[in-house]
Amino acid sequence: MHPESLMMSYGYKPEWSEGAIKSPIFQTSTFVFKSAEEGKAFFELAYGLRKQKAGEEMGLIYSRINNPDLEILEDRLCLWDEAEDCAVFESGMSAITTVLLEFLNPGDLLLFSTPLYGGTDHFIRKILTRFGVHVRSFSVGQCSEEAIRIVEESGLADRLAMVYIETPANPTNDLIDIRCSKSIARHFEREDRPVYLAVDNTYMGPLWQHPLKHGADLVLYSATKYIGGHSDVIAGACLGSSPMIARVKGLRTFLGNMAGPWTGWLLLRSLETLKARMDVQAANAGNVAEFLNHHPKVEKVYYLGNLKETDGAAYEIRQRQCLSNGAMISFDVRGGESEAFRFLNALGLIKLAVSLGSTESLAEHPATMTHADVSPDEKRALSITEKMIRLSIGVENPDDIIADISQALDHV
Ligand SMILES: *Cc1c(COP(=O)(O)O)cnc(C)c1O
Repeated sequence: MHPESLMMSYGYKPEWSEGAIKSPIFQTSTFVFKSAEEGKAFFELAYGLRKQKAGEEMGLIYSRINNPDLEILEDRLCLWDEAEDCAVFESGMSAITTVLLEFLNPGDLLLFSTPLYGGTDHFIRKILTRFGVHVRSFSVGQCSEEAIRIVEESGLADRLAMVYIETPANPTNDLIDIRCSKSIARHFEREDRPVYLAVDNTYMGPLWQHPLKHGADLVLYSATKYIGGHSDVIAGACLGSSPMIARVKGLRTFLGNMAGPWTGWLLLRSLETLKARMDVQAANAGNVAEFLNHHPKVEKVYYLGNLKETDGAAYEIRQRQCLSNGAMISFDVRGGESEAFRFLNALGLIKLAVSLGSTESLAEHPATMTHADVSPDEKRALSITEKMIRLSIGVENPDDIIADISQALDHV
């Protein structure tokens, strides 16, 4: 069956909980063992002291290690990306930082695409480097010869351990080729030295882009965005092969940044409507982009649906790796910061807030808000100018969203 058909039931049996059709919130810190022998067996598996026997399942021990709400959530998230395993976290940042800390050692080189989510960019440049990890970046269009040259010129080609990308890039919707990023990793891989590809799929996932199918080893989410989808919970997830997720869960146990049962339960509820919400959001975004494309006060629209065959590589990447044009649109108003602010201050239905992927439409000013920390030079190179507005399109009636944008543009 399709994932959307399984989101209400997969991984949970009502007889476990007095016939309750929905999984209860297992608000408990610890679990009672049936016997001392059982407790011993569970710990042997939890700490990897011996191999799992055929048919043996890891039991419940303590909610920092596992909890039913998290396990059911992890099983359901695997269905969308067709991943072997998943680990859920209390935030997108904790999923991302745990992966970086688990797969990078002092002296290793990390190659990453720009622009990245601000928090990720800060952690890579300011914190990872404090632990002796070397970092280099490449930008859209620099795949693959230029990216390979950047690694070679670092003098650390034999220490490349991970390629980390985010596509589409925020806020410009520029596409990074997942397959090409994997080929960079392969180029530097040695038999005894794997080079992993990790992809932050928050902007398009888990429905509209499946990085594992294009060669990624790990997929990361801020589940705060589409997966949570109601602007009421912060959470994250990481998916990949069983051995890799076992390593991620191992470090999660010791950092203690797993999601709590209440967060897990909220996400289970959100997953039931994920497909329905995202379908409506993408359809609404198509209508909004069409309106913006023809508005005299709009100079340029950054939207995946605007890519045409004549756009060459970007068009080909979208055709290959994106299953939808998504629900994120950026645009430049004619003018500068004051025109952009006049637009933002005049919005009524659409709320002026950062974040994305939620039921309500949101608008923000990347240059002074989400990307305030990006250097002026880099902002210019990435086309993040004072006149740019970023929209996250929600599930409202498209006529009302467009009417709100239209009246706000009248104030420009
Ligand atoms: C929001 C976001 C994050 C960080 O996630 P949190 O849940 O806020 O910790 C990471 N990557 C992208 C692309 C995001 O949009």
